[in-house]
Amino acid sequence: MATVWIDGKWYDRETATVSVYDHGLLYGDGVFEGTRVYGGKIFRLKEHLDRLYDSAQAIWLAVPLPKEEMTAITEEAVRRSGHAEGYIRHIVTRGVGDLGLDPRKCPRASVIIIVDAIQLWPEEVYRAGLRVVTAGTPIPHRESLSPRVKSLNYLAHILAKIEGIQAGADEVIMLDSAGSVAEGSGQNLFVVKGGRLRTPPAYGGILRGVTRDAVIEIAESAGYDVREEPLNRYDVYTADEAFFTGTATEIVSIREVDGRVIGAGEEGPVTRDLRRRFQALVRD
Ligand code: PMP
Repeated sequence: MATVWIDGKWYDRETATVSVYDHGLLYGDGVFEGTRVYGGKIFRLKEHLDRLYDSAQAIWLAVPLPKEEMTAITEEAVRRSGHAEGYIRHIVTRGVGDLGLDPRKCPRASVIIIVDAIQLWPEEVYRAGLRVVTAGTPIPHRESLSPRVKSLNYLAHILAKIEGIQAGADEVIMLDSAGSVAEGSGQNLFVVKGGRLRTPPAYGGILRGVTRDAVIEIAESAGYDVREEPLNRYDVYTADEAFFTGTATEIVSIREVDGRVIGAGEEGPVTRDLRRRFQALVRD
């Protein structure tokens, strides 16, 4: 059962509704977060809420709750949901306004917190790895709607995802407008070459994933050399291993990109080692 909190009241999946005049719906005017619950504990809630409030700040949206209150309500929502293994969605919309796009017509932002079950992939998917194609749709330019804002505008990523579906692939790699490798439709990307890990830098214009940052930390403390530097498709095609990271995905290997088999064409030893370490971290 899902537990939903909207602006101070509790609902379930059937009763939770928003106004058709909410600018989150009318214009995609809002921000969100996705966070995991492992064994009843919320993984890196502070980091997710920091990113949520930064996303809101970047789009001139005042979150109508202090972070401490947001934290307390989130913890209560998880308790009420009874989901020891679950997924939390935070949404802050511009709120109810008129049919014009002027945000000043929306006197109060709306806050929604959903806690629900999470659909997990079977272990075989992690072992086999994903078949991936490069999408033709680039991520938005960093000086347009910054990809660092986790906004309710996911259309570029959805269009890329559709390209992947049309091609019969499991996932896509999105490039930035200069042609560098950026991210997946909802994941960050790493490559491994000669034991060294490389991932695109956040300032280049990607979503700075909480999982990505956790993976950088655990990899460095395990003694791996990790570099945040621009990558192009050549680097992915010629990698020993490649993998995606994300809250829902965790760490999943990539076995094929645009028809090129990556490494041994299955989860490699570095990816497996990091996945094991990540599981230990989230259960810590
Ligand atoms: N990039 C995009 C576009 C995403 O939507 C996500 C999922 N939030 C990520 C990367 C991975 O971020 P995180 O590890 O914080 O889930």
